[in-house]
Amino acid sequence: MSDKKVALITGGTTGIGKAIAHKLAISGYDIALNYYVGDEQAASVVKELEAFNVRVIAIKADVSKYQEVEQMVKEVVTKLGNLNIVVNNAGITDDALILRMQEEQFDRVISTNLKGVWNVCRHVSKVLLKSGYGRIINISSVTGIMGNAGQSNYSAAKAGVIGITKTLARELASRSVTVNAVAPGFIQTQMTDKLPETIINNVLEQIPLKKLGHAEDIANAVAFLASPDASYITGQVISIDGGLAM
Ligand code: NAD
Repeated sequence: MSDKKVALITGGTTGIGKAIAHKLAISGYDIALNYYVGDEQAASVVKELEAFNVRVIAIKADVSKYQEVEQMVKEVVTKLGNLNIVVNNAGITDDALILRMQEEQFDRVISTNLKGVWNVCRHVSKVLLKSGYGRIINISSVTGIMGNAGQSNYSAAKAGVIGITKTLARELASRSVTVNAVAPGFIQTQMTDKLPETIINNVLEQIPLKKLGHAEDIANAVAFLASPDASYITGQVISIDGGLAM
């Protein structure tokens, strides 16, 4: 068995999750990649990460399903021997203004983006408390802080993630497990590629740094929070948004 630290990243095969997986693999962590769709994509990211000389597994599981998450966490510990860093990154959008949003749209986004984070935290907490080195890093969003027209479901979930983060920071602190959130602004990924150009231009005007962020900007902060250098930081929300929320 390896004595390397093990990191689990949910939704780890695309966008921000993939960039986080790369950064943590380069930093020397063994990697468990959770994904939900796209077996071929997952296999290809596993290959890319193995090039960094770390152990990598991919586990298909829907984070919104309590029992699938329980199985996933058991599989990580069985196959990689430990679990130290957990990055709750999986997320979806399903936007509409409140007068048009259907109940199913609200439920779907809450199930994945809020219940999904709780499911993972519920199942990893015991393992992290025992592991001797534990970190939870939750990916929230600037919209969980500021709100955003058309995202009453998404911003509610992302604000809820901040609530879970602060609560677990208090509950798990006795054994030095830290729990923090990162709140990305507008980052160039398939999630923001869906937005119309007019919305992007409007957003750019409001961002002091006048540009969208890159997935690597988020990955760098996550790697710092995962590292021993961040051991006295817990219960915090770090905004990485070009100055949008301040
Ligand atoms: P993305 O669509 O590339 O990544 C989301 C990943 O989550 C995908 O791989 C998807 O398959 C996975 N996923 C979705 N539902 C899942 C489920 N039920 N179980 C397991 N995996 C599931 O988009 P991204 O931009 O890389 O988003 C990553 C995270 O960052 C999300 O939580 C998102 O809300 C957050 N975020 C993104 C931005 C942005 O501007 N891109 C801004 C703020 C926050």
